[in-house]
Amino acid sequence: MTDAQLTLICPPVRTNCFPDENPISFLVRLANLNKYPVYRWLLSGKGAGTINYELLYRTLLATDWAGYEQTVPELQAICALPNIHINSSRLRYCPLCLQEESYWRMGWQLKLSVACARHQVWLHDLCPHCQKDQSILKVDENQSECLEQLANAEAIPAPLSVLRMQQFLEEGLLNQDNPLFDANNQPTMVERCELMVFMLKWLGVGEDLAKPARKKFEYVSGFQDKAIQCAEALFSDQSGFWRYLQTIHLFHASYIGIQQKRLVYFYREFFKQFSAPSFQSLRYVVENYAVMNLIRDITEKHTLFTPNAKKVQLWYSFQKAYKEYGIASSVLSRVITDKQVNVHHEYAEKYTKSSVYRPDLEKILPHLKRLIPASFAAQILGVTKAQFSQLQNSGCFKFEIPPRRDYCSTWQYSQPELSAIIENINRGAAPITTACLTISQIMQYQIQGRIEMPFLQLIKAILSGQLVVRKSDPQILKIRALSIDAEEFMRWLNNLRPTPEYASVTEASKLLGVNEEFTYQLVNRGYLHHKIDSRNAKVIFPDHIRQFKQDYVILSKLSEESEISSAKIVEILEPLEIFPVDHNNSYKLRQKLYTRADILKTSLLYRYVQYLPE
Ligand SMILES: [Zn+2]
Ligand SMILES: [Zn+2]
Repeated sequence: MTDAQLTLICPPVRTNCFPDENPISFLVRLANLNKYPVYRWLLSGKGAGTINYELLYRTLLATDWAGYEQTVPELQAICALPNIHINSSRLRYCPLCLQEESYWRMGWQLKLSVACARHQVWLHDLCPHCQKDQSILKVDENQSECLEQLANAEAIPAPLSVLRMQQFLEEGLLNQDNPLFDANNQPTMVERCELMVFMLKWLGVGEDLAKPARKKFEYVSGFQDKAIQCAEALFSDQSGFWRYLQTIHLFHASYIGIQQKRLVYFYREFFKQFSAPSFQSLRYVVENYAVMNLIRDITEKHTLFTPNAKKVQLWYSFQKAYKEYGIASSVLSRVITDKQVNVHHEYAEKYTKSSVYRPDLEKILPHLKRLIPASFAAQILGVTKAQFSQLQNSGCFKFEIPPRRDYCSTWQYSQPELSAIIENINRGAAPITTACLTISQIMQYQIQGRIEMPFLQLIKAILSGQLVVRKSDPQILKIRALSIDAEEFMRWLNNLRPTPEYASVTEASKLLGVNEEFTYQLVNRGYLHHKIDSRNAKVIFPDHIRQFKQDYVILSKLSEESEISSAKIVEILEPLEIFPVDHNNSYKLRQKLYTRADILKTSLLYRYVQYLPE
């Protein structure tokens, strides 16, 4: 008996299914009509004891009196989905659908179903009366009290983009002229589920993490915000997906290293998972975004190198590299320290041989050859000098070269990068609303004195897609002239976290593990960068600390790490002509400080500073 094919037992009282009815819902109704205590009494054969929608669908379709030959096509498609995309027995529901007919719609069972496209409302997961999960398996007498309550749950209108996303998910329907999908080559049900899972998962990437964790999508209320963001990305205006990529790339990513890593992971995963022709347009946008924003090359060969002859030629010695490419050796050292160019060190007894990865260098060469001062950079963006100074060393720019003795006395920026930033911001611009303020107006009247570093926070919010810039005229490009919806802006401003992300000098000394006086020396002499807040106090950002650690090594820390005494280290370094940074100053720092690049050159000590905390 148990080995036989699954069949539906014909009960005394019969009924027909609804066109979009969950097979289990139909079985439960049938059990109720016949006063059976469980719906499984209606099944016989192999698989009667498990929930297998595909099997149930086939079984019901093979039953001539159940009406399943007249169901909608998406019912079959949902039943055929892998379990991972389905809530097998927990009920999600639309109260308005239940007011019309009391049965479970198959579309509700999709893990990522969030709304009822017909009634334009959000779906619910819990009973409004007892706030508990509901099972679709139970017959009337076990839960009649809750069942009556479900239809009374609040009907909460869902945004248009979310309704479009729901229609897309269930039926593959697209609003016309959606440039992100090809009407003649639409993704299948399973592809649509996978795309949404992927996009939602990435929206949940944690603060300063490179990859998102696995997501459960248990209750609609738990991922409603992300669902709206995802819907806005795919089903709002032309720039929605671009803004989504900005969010993934920059939101909760406070420094360039992590931003870059994220983009690389996202790009690779997206291309691996969505190689089908139906995702061609989305892939095109991702690629465009990646090309505009990645520092490194993005093909496989740039991260994996094997020792075959052809690839070895991709590396030049340090000397050959700066001569061949016509840049100063100090500039090349700088980009290596900043990890913008991949470098391979070979350590021998007395010297270190460094090789530079040419594709990296070629990629940033246009930036290095077109370095501009901060004042010009501010002009390109269309911001004041004071506003620009808030952006300095905040993680907004990849090419930001601080002033340095023997190198250049002012901050330097890359003209191509600044042009790309302005283009990037403008590509994400939406149409204006009835109550818009220009950024210039916001800076002058709306934000003054309300938050620290207001311009920096505003720009970060724009670049990470938290605030949408708007404009009425394509000619408008400069930041000051772009607009933001007044209401959206106020909501953002009111939601800002009050805790500052920067530290005082005292706090910075704790972060560095050195005393306060030494920290003041580091700040005052420009080894540790800082900014001035509105109360005229010196403040230090995480990027400043990171930069300091990338550039310098404190002798006492090196001694701790290597378990070699400080005196011995000085003794090792002197014959190599490696001296502390204040070697030529008469007024010495309280502790000895070396440049990290110098220590990296030594065969004995490099390993203690090789792996930096990021
Ligand atoms: Zn409904
Ligand atoms: Zn209840």
